[in-house]
Amino acid sequence: MTRFCTQCGQAVPDNCSFCTNCGAPLAASQPQYQFNFNPQPAQPQPMGPKPKNYLIWSILATIFCCIPLGVWCIVCSNKVNKEWDRGNYVGAKEASSKAKTWIIVTAILGLIVNVVYVFSSGMLDQL
Ligand SMILES: [Zn+2]
Repeated sequence: MTRFCTQCGQAVPDNCSFCTNCGAPLAASQPQYQFNFNPQPAQPQPMGPKPKNYLIWSILATIFCCIPLGVWCIVCSNKVNKEWDRGNYVGAKEASSKAKTWIIVTAILGLIVNVVYVFSSGMLDQL
């Protein structure tokens, strides 16, 4: 690639810093734009993999433990996907941990209810 002097128009070899004809500096006359201009605003990047939505556990909790609490777990689980798709990665993580907490609560409550139920029906059999 041959450059041309902006002062006199002389063709100058690429490796020369100054015009061979008039001596004008060429580096300044040929500014190179090396800005990495990015017109797109920075998108929030996903922080790690998509958080678990525990949807299977929510459904199991609904079936085996407690329907109202289980439904609430499913709502939380669905929110994980919804927030993640919206780009709200923090919200997705929060919904994920919330779903997990409620599944545990539902499972423990369901277990207690079942134990009480089995225990009381056993008591009734004794009578
Ligand atoms: Zn020149």
